[in-house]
Amino acid sequence: MRLPPFTYNRPQDLDEALELLNAYGKDCKILAGGTDLLVRMKQGLVAPMNLISLKALSELAEIRETATDLKIGAAAKLSDILAYQPVQGRWPGLFESIKAIGAPSIQHFSGTIGGNLCQDNRCQFYNQSRSFRRARQTCNKAGGSTCFAWKGGSDKCHSVCQSDTAPILIAMGAKVVIKSRQETRAIPLEELYSSIGEHPLTLGDNEMLTEILVPVRAPGDGSAFEKLAYRSAIDYAVVSAGAFVQTDGNQMLKASLVIGAVARGPLTIATIEKTLEDRPVGDEQAIDEAAKEAMNAAEAFMANNMTQPVEYRTQMVSVITKRALKLATKRALSNKEVSEAK
Ligand SMILES: Cc1cc2nc3c(=O)[nH]c(=O)nc-3n(C[C@H](O)[C@H](O)[C@H](O)COP(=O)(O)OP(=O)(O)OC[C@H]3O[C@@H](n4cnc5c(N)ncnc54)[C@H](O)[C@@H]3O)c2cc1C
Repeated sequence: MRLPPFTYNRPQDLDEALELLNAYGKDCKILAGGTDLLVRMKQGLVAPMNLISLKALSELAEIRETATDLKIGAAAKLSDILAYQPVQGRWPGLFESIKAIGAPSIQHFSGTIGGNLCQDNRCQFYNQSRSFRRARQTCNKAGGSTCFAWKGGSDKCHSVCQSDTAPILIAMGAKVVIKSRQETRAIPLEELYSSIGEHPLTLGDNEMLTEILVPVRAPGDGSAFEKLAYRSAIDYAVVSAGAFVQTDGNQMLKASLVIGAVARGPLTIATIEKTLEDRPVGDEQAIDEAAKEAMNAAEAFMANNMTQPVEYRTQMVSVITKRALKLATKRALSNKEVSEAK
């Protein structure tokens, strides 16, 4: 598999990168670690004329804490976030989600958090070789007019968001900073996702992600990320869940749950807060109810976009949800480090 021709741009600072982005518009892609983009280019799924590399932008690789947030530069390497000592203890769910991405080679050599959040949606009918794709009609995501993943076909693309960090970051209330040459804005992370399979992000052509802001840990809160995959390394999620809870030691004060790998964007289970709020900590019935709600919500989006059967994935939403909520609660009660809690 060969890369198509392109012009490689290596800006030396953020202003220069934003200038280039503004000038090229639709004709370019941002290159962070390249572990998603270069694979798609080699498969002939995308052929940008210009690449803008973030490699020289040290200002986008910073990780630091303030009184209100953990601030992670969009081009921070996954391995650097894992190595940043406070993350494992205070944001265990984030730590787990990064650990679960691909393989250590992806985490260590190139993969970035911005690239993880902005990676393209995937589908078993789309992320394939040219010869596989040539053998059938062009699907929606590749510019055609049908979706093979949806039973009976569909005029909408049903590719799936596979970012492992998005569910837990959304559950924890993270924001992202988005910049263009003209403006800077901070939005809740969930607003980065459009729920449109062909164009899963709401970013404009001249915009890029520059920072991720994760709220600091408060007393009595806990987070957890659970992922089901065939192999513990390399494989994308069959289903994943990010859970965040807050307790006063006796009752649940807050709960949020986001399911990954089932829909066109991370799927927030909006009813969870009401279901778990004011229920006693460790109430198995409440957790069962929450898991059922998650499963029902996910079922509506399930498509044949992965090799695993839809029925199996739907059932597994309930299992993974329970695990994530229980672990987040355990952490909320103990506030112990992830390695001790597992
Ligand atoms: C074998 C294999 C297994 C994988 N397994 C997983 C997995 O289990 N879980 C998972 O989540 N991912 C997985 N991935 C996907 C990918 O490796 C990771 O998501 C990685 O974190 C992507 O980061 P990157 O820096 O390499 O992104 P890139 O490939 O550089 O970029 C990805 C996309 O995001 C855009 N982009 C990058 N940075 C920005 C920015 N700052 N602003 C705007 N747009 C931006 C790029 O233009 C591109 O479209 C896997 C990949 C491979 C090859």
